[in-house]
Amino acid sequence: MAPRHCPKITDCKLHRSIGMTAALRVWQSFYCEGCFSRCERFKLASTGIPVPERLLPNGRLLDASATPEAGQRSERAA
Ligand code: SF4
Repeated sequence: MAPRHCPKITDCKLHRSIGMTAALRVWQSFYCEGCFSRCERFKLASTGIPVPERLLPNGRLLDASATPEAGQRSERAA
């Protein structure tokens, strides 16, 4: 029987890119707890290719200004 959750769930850094808990839960619900074989992060990680931190499960790149780190940078600059 195939695993229900993504086998990369303990190593994946998706939570570092998605600052909003609600948004993260949407990604996790669809991909991490279901269709992980369709996740672009999973596909790269499964072949040993480093996963870009800003890569979203659907293959799009998260806007750099929307990452939690960017928010911290702008808070420090203020
Ligand atoms: S984002 Fe992709 S690789 Fe990461 S835990 Fe979820 S399904 Fe797995």
